[in-house]
Amino acid sequence: MNKFQQLGLNEPILKAIEDLGFKDPSEVQEKTIPILLQKKTDLVSLAQTGTGKTAAFGFPLIQKLDPYNKKTQALILAPTRELCMQITNELKLYSKYIPEICTVAIYGGASITEQARSVKKGAHIIVATPGRMQDMQNRKLVNIREIEYCILDEADEMLNMGFYEDITSILSETPEEKSTWLFSATMLEEVARIAREFMNNPLEITVGNKNQGPQSVSHEFYLIQARDRYLALKRLADANPDIFSVVFCRTKKDTQDIADKLIEDGYNAAALHGDLSQAQRDAVMKSFRGKQIRMLVATDVAARGIDVEDITHVINYQLPDEIEIYTHRSGRTGRAGKSGTSMVIISKSELRKINAIERLIKQNFEEKPIPSGIEICEVQLFHLANKIKDVEIDHEIDSYLPVIFDVFKKLSKEDLIKKMVSVEFNRFLTYYKNAAELTSGNKKDGNSGQESFSNESDGSTRYFINVGTRDNFDWKRLKDFLTAMLELGRDDVFKVDVKESFSFFNTEPGNKDKVLKCFENFKFEGRRVSVEISKNEKSGRRENRRDHNDRKNKANNSFSTRKKTNSGSSQFSKFEKDNKEKFRSKPKRKK
Ligand code: AMP
Repeated sequence: MNKFQQLGLNEPILKAIEDLGFKDPSEVQEKTIPILLQKKTDLVSLAQTGTGKTAAFGFPLIQKLDPYNKKTQALILAPTRELCMQITNELKLYSKYIPEICTVAIYGGASITEQARSVKKGAHIIVATPGRMQDMQNRKLVNIREIEYCILDEADEMLNMGFYEDITSILSETPEEKSTWLFSATMLEEVARIAREFMNNPLEITVGNKNQGPQSVSHEFYLIQARDRYLALKRLADANPDIFSVVFCRTKKDTQDIADKLIEDGYNAAALHGDLSQAQRDAVMKSFRGKQIRMLVATDVAARGIDVEDITHVINYQLPDEIEIYTHRSGRTGRAGKSGTSMVIISKSELRKINAIERLIKQNFEEKPIPSGIEICEVQLFHLANKIKDVEIDHEIDSYLPVIFDVFKKLSKEDLIKKMVSVEFNRFLTYYKNAAELTSGNKKDGNSGQESFSNESDGSTRYFINVGTRDNFDWKRLKDFLTAMLELGRDDVFKVDVKESFSFFNTEPGNKDKVLKCFENFKFEGRRVSVEISKNEKSGRRENRRDHNDRKNKANNSFSTRKKTNSGSSQFSKFEKDNKEKFRSKPKRKK
């Protein structure tokens, strides 16, 4: 009796195993198969990919199915199309000697009609990705109301990819009495939640070490001043010349803005968010899969289900509001046995979130400084030199070589190398030669090329504006107003301090001219809104004096007093109602 026989497997399966050439059962098979064959039970099995888990559930499943009943008896959910196909192929091999058993794969990106037809012919087992399964359920193309077995394969991956709602919705349409077998490499909280909510006293089997998150992903955070966020992102990309990344932003607008800026700055980037049409999204994903796009800037919702291998970095440009989402993001890298890095660009005020995430993922973050300009230049230089060394020569160029040799004939080997490297490298050198440390709070980057004016100890520029709480502003509304007026990002206007009839705010020094010009002779409904450089003399004394005067003068100069006498509401409540574009077109400027 061989070891597979001892597990209780029957003849047709043993014959298939022999054909497959499996000699002995793997650990997960030894632990799982006898239980699943003998008991009607729910089961949670913690096993990594490559441990033989498909056979661990596949053998007992095939043995238990009724081959002569054509109704769908088992549903297997798996995170990706590739895995669906792989499981289907394996199951077909395992059931080779029970030809009545039919296994059908359903997944996105292929004809739904074709798949529906296969299901209709009779599918004992359906192997599906959650998205396509939901779609087919909604269109009533599948019936899983009578299944006896539901298998969730790579459950942690499915949850990492944001399929929680799809899974729960699919499961809610399956019968209570079925057996559910869940396979997962890690016991994330959401996996445990699925087990709690949808399983009945599951037996738990662990193969190897039980861990809480893929150890193949290392987590790093970079502490920056909020306004340096974009510059920091560029540096992280530049310091990793082979980067193939997903950059996560919180909103669709930020996603588009950051992608636009990156493209403008010469990066192979694209945005992926819900405002794009399906065709646009497909085109972006095609380019990303083909690696023409190296930085995919995405919202969490749009990035659901991205199943691209080889992603080297996940960059959290902004952290998600719910920290649980962090695991979905970081799970985009470190797949298929590869290692990956999840980077978080973070300002001081968000630092506590790092501790919370560390507790959640049971892994520590490494705090790293944003690479300096010199470091980036070094990395790029070596990368370029190696690229030249390793490039494959297409002999199509041979016929041009005599002319090319002629061009270079007066150059020594050393000079030629220097010049070749400089072609690409000068760009970085020019950009970074005067670049300051970003983590130090000094904002002058090598490319700013703007007059650097600072009246603040942190190097930024502080302004005074003659609107305040009397005009129905709080710091958030004023920040919204200023970013919309100035067409700046949310991080570009900071330290917004709203007093009763005036306020203060800061920008990077490079934005000084833009700010002053924007509010030059700026009028809104007859009222002049003025902005000037704050004369706080780096001590705040002037601000205090203004504060004192504010209380005395507020009645004369209040923005709101006038408006309230007219309509009973501040003019700026109008700003909130109107969209920002409309607002921008309203103000009348003096000629
Ligand atoms: P899985 O973890 O299910 O993705 O399986 C990984 C690979 O191991 C697949 O190619 C299986 O065909 C193979 N495999 C599964 N069980 C055994 C076994 N007992 N002996 C040898 N190979 C196996």
